[in-house]
Amino acid sequence: MSSPIRTERHDNVLVIISDNPPVNALGQAVRAGLVDGIEQALGDNSVEAVVIRCDGRTFFAGADITEFGKPPKGPSLPDALDKLEASDKPVVAAIHGTALGGGCEVALACHYRVAVPSAKMGLPEVKLGLIPGAAGTQRLPRLVGAEAALPLVAIGNPIPAKKAQSIGLLDELVGEDSLEADAIAFAKSKVGQPVPRSSEGQANQDGVKNPDIFDEFRAKNGRKMRGFDAPNAAIEAVKAAGELDYKDGVAKERELFTKLMTGTQSKAMRHYFFAERAANKIDDVPSDTPLIDVKKVGIIGAGTMGGGIAMNFLSAGIPVTILEMKQEALDRGAGVMRKNYENAAKRGRMSAEQVDQAMGLLTPTLDYDDLADCDLVIEAVYESMDVKKEVFSKLDEVVKQGAILASNTSYLDINKIAMATDRPGYVLGLHFFSPANIMKLLEIVRGDKTRDDVLATSMKLAKKIGKVAAVSGVCPGFIGNRMLSKRQEQANKLIMEGANYWDVDDVLLEFGFPMGPFQMGDLAGLDIGWHRDPSKVTTVREALCAAERFGQKNGKGFYDYDEARQRTPSDEVKQIIADFAAKEGNEQRDISKDEIRERLLYPMVNEGAKILDEGMAQRASDIDVVWINGYGWPLYTGGPMFWADTVGLPEVVVGLERHGLEVSDYLRSKAEAGESFN
Ligand code: NAD
Repeated sequence: MSSPIRTERHDNVLVIISDNPPVNALGQAVRAGLVDGIEQALGDNSVEAVVIRCDGRTFFAGADITEFGKPPKGPSLPDALDKLEASDKPVVAAIHGTALGGGCEVALACHYRVAVPSAKMGLPEVKLGLIPGAAGTQRLPRLVGAEAALPLVAIGNPIPAKKAQSIGLLDELVGEDSLEADAIAFAKSKVGQPVPRSSEGQANQDGVKNPDIFDEFRAKNGRKMRGFDAPNAAIEAVKAAGELDYKDGVAKERELFTKLMTGTQSKAMRHYFFAERAANKIDDVPSDTPLIDVKKVGIIGAGTMGGGIAMNFLSAGIPVTILEMKQEALDRGAGVMRKNYENAAKRGRMSAEQVDQAMGLLTPTLDYDDLADCDLVIEAVYESMDVKKEVFSKLDEVVKQGAILASNTSYLDINKIAMATDRPGYVLGLHFFSPANIMKLLEIVRGDKTRDDVLATSMKLAKKIGKVAAVSGVCPGFIGNRMLSKRQEQANKLIMEGANYWDVDDVLLEFGFPMGPFQMGDLAGLDIGWHRDPSKVTTVREALCAAERFGQKNGKGFYDYDEARQRTPSDEVKQIIADFAAKEGNEQRDISKDEIRERLLYPMVNEGAKILDEGMAQRASDIDVVWINGYGWPLYTGGPMFWADTVGLPEVVVGLERHGLEVSDYLRSKAEAGESFN
């Protein structure tokens, strides 16, 4: 096999070129080729400088992820980079596209770095539960300082070339179309000068002089990093770069890296990386299915969901016509959207001009005829089959043939909704999550008759509006809410049996969810769907509403809230729950946090197994994608199905049995066969 690395001579400069599509990943052949290239330069007296660049769309975009978990084949990236850096002839990285992860580490090992203005650099390993493992955590702080290195290593977002130059990560920005020539000229200008090695840099002393920067960084990013191991390891590594000499620092990085690499979190996050990509594929829909052109979107209902859904399309530059029954509702809906955009502008996420641009694409209407030329219409009216059927039959009358008709229903049967039209093939569910302009998940609900082009177009569109999509079959609550209802059922039972409701919330918080079910109820409002008759009390929730405890909105729900929205358990609610339990004749007992956790989470896994068995999800990892993006399941456990695999399916079965809960045949047979979901 020919090497992906070749060399070219330009006067006294040797240019080492990688051609390893699609992203010049740093596989074994590339690493070996780089070492050969450097040896060639060092062995040739007429070569006085070296440029490293890549063909194709990008500089080395990172490690070859397919080599993860396989026996290593030399040269390793750290060894290759040490050879490169050791050269006494100047080596210049010439960067276009992205220099990420291992690619950024290659650049760091070079003596100089030049890039085109459109390039980006970064160390995103932390997003896969890792830290850089080829001395990136040691070279970067020595080059740019600990403070500038911290966000790059511990948060992992790439930075544009200009920013990279401003922190000293890049030496020069060169012409967008003259990278090679400019890099060669730059290299020539450095001939004869002593080479600067980033491993010998001293910028990292800022963290030694002011060690508070590490705690300050932790405090500032605490929420983002909560529960994740890798960011803390990253901070430790950057700190070590200031405290240890280079060799010991590299050893420290290796120790931290190895611990993460062999740990569960990184496995879970790598699982998720592939899961998200897999979820994009619908197994029996050919990849070359022709798409429907979506140039204009209609939305029915400008309430909580309709407004949020509309914002997705407006932000992506797609015009939206939104329909309501009454002018006031229409005005209120559009007003909320504008306010949301203005808040985003206040936080610096968009400009005032962009707000006007987005709102300029919105056409509010009371007239169905205005939807006639829409390519996609999404219904987000009340959750009632009768109302939805009426809306769909109306849409069938007025909207042009060939347009997609979608429902945002949370639980209702998409097939029944489709039958209200004469074009069931064009009907599907597009289930957004609240707040719809922010939450990443889009459940795409495939009806019995939904056409391939309708599905393929929806998938593509999801990407365009920045959503992560997963396909569900038609069943009550689809993938996400169907599993959620099992958790809620147990949460309600637990508090009737003596568990403290705040312990139920705290167990999920400790597991890594952003909040528990009772906090979630308070946030959403306990009076949603309430019959508004305080004399009719059949559930705890109705009792709370009767006591005017509506949730965060009036400062009291399951919890009492202070001005800062801090929650404290309420004596009144404890009493309400105790009274209910007494009325039902439930014996009260102490319930351990372990039992709470198992009873909340194992039934979800069991329901996930049934969803798989029934073919409602294409693959276990799609369920993980749904829960991580739609419900705040902690990414570092990989989602419910991957998590169950790490717990061990036999253990899940035993746990369910211990608590007298249902074990599906599918889960039991998997456990007995020693199999896992993923
Ligand atoms: P909402 O009450 O906030 O909004 C519904 C809007 O639809 C109201 O403004 C109402 O005036 C309008 N409407 C009702 N009937 C109409 C009709 N025939 N024609 C035009 N407009 C009509 O409700 P929501 O929370 O936005 O929920 C809408 C849908 O989205 C429901 O099916 C719900 O199950 C689903 N959903 C809600 C959430 C959530 O968290 N709120 C999440 C996912 C899905």
